[in-house]
Amino acid sequence: MKIYKFGGASVKDAEGVKNLVTILNHLGQQHTLIVVSAMGKTTNSLELVVKNYFDNKEDLQYSINEVFNFHNKILHNLFKEDNHQIFSEFHEIFENLRIFLKRNKSPDYSFVYDQVVSFGEILSTKIINSYLNYSSIPCNWVDARILIKTDSKYRDANLNWELTKTSIYNNINTKLLNITQGFIASDANNFSTTLGREGSDYTAAIFAYCLNAESVTIWKDVPGVLNADPRVFKKPQLLNKISYTEAIELAFYGASVIHPKTLQPLQKKEIPLYVKSFLNPSGKGTAISRGTKIDPLIPCFIVQRNLNLLKLSSLDFSFIVEDNIRDIFQILHENKMKVDLIQNSAISFSVCIYDKYSRLKELLSILKATFKVECTENVSLFTIRHFNEHSSNEILKNNKLLLEQRTNETLQLVVS
Ligand code: ASP
Repeated sequence: MKIYKFGGASVKDAEGVKNLVTILNHLGQQHTLIVVSAMGKTTNSLELVVKNYFDNKEDLQYSINEVFNFHNKILHNLFKEDNHQIFSEFHEIFENLRIFLKRNKSPDYSFVYDQVVSFGEILSTKIINSYLNYSSIPCNWVDARILIKTDSKYRDANLNWELTKTSIYNNINTKLLNITQGFIASDANNFSTTLGREGSDYTAAIFAYCLNAESVTIWKDVPGVLNADPRVFKKPQLLNKISYTEAIELAFYGASVIHPKTLQPLQKKEIPLYVKSFLNPSGKGTAISRGTKIDPLIPCFIVQRNLNLLKLSSLDFSFIVEDNIRDIFQILHENKMKVDLIQNSAISFSVCIYDKYSRLKELLSILKATFKVECTENVSLFTIRHFNEHSSNEILKNNKLLLEQRTNETLQLVVS
């Protein structure tokens, strides 16, 4: 069985849905499961519905109408007959959303978030399923919430692998074409849960693992995995092959390749993951699998912006060793800082951190009680995997180098 994952960008309009059908026609439609995200930026629009529900009731109806109109337009572009049964299903889905918002008593933001945001994936898969059948491609709509079971950690639910394995294995007919939702699942009380933003890739990996799939293909708007972000670097190149371990390394350094959570189940069963362009489905794309570390072996560039570089040294000129380092990490952890790079010498300790929760001021005042602290705000960290002697030239031409660290395979530069 093959698993295909189509993200929001691939089905952002009627043309996208038609293109999905063309891809399936081209690649064959049996023994396949397609995992689909919400259309376009629907998840963001539904996040706004939740926000308005709690903080701004006046705009609630308006934000629901936005989601309605966006999908309604796609439906009218796909189906000629106004009396096609998808239109009544579509209205029913919105009726269910309104009923939920009217009856809900829970003040728990994350709970409400998951109940509301999951409508995005239900809408997209219902529409695409109907359109496939309308195009004479029989397809079986599967509710991922019935098969994927999680705990009740709303917005970032943890999988119950045992229950999920059995229910997927027993309920998917692997001979057919099936369609299901990415990102959504349900808890022990059958309330909807979600797997974290961008969670659809993970869903594809979960199904692949439970069904012992032959492969997973993620269809994107880029030709595959590139060696650099095209928004930051000129002329990025396509990577043909990457090993699971290398992909995890790249993700660790901040590359938005594929989330490690997605790679783990695939790696366990050695199921290859292909990243291909939905604009050019016959292109080679990138294969992430066991074996070849990276092909071609070229430098890969990753940049993280808006970091802070702290240089700590002891007030009494003593060494910075185990116990001070332990204390520093404890303080960083308590202040929810993400540590991206560390470097130490006898009397100083440098650390590059990401301050996601805007706690830098508090952190500095705590550290200053024990250490001399120098802080450079708003620095960038460039990581170059498989660097060569020229690969840092361009970066250093335009930036001031504050700190450098190298291992056999990785060069990291903190610059301002
Ligand atoms: N629709 C969800 C999101 O936008 C999940 C996904 O697309 O992966 O984050």
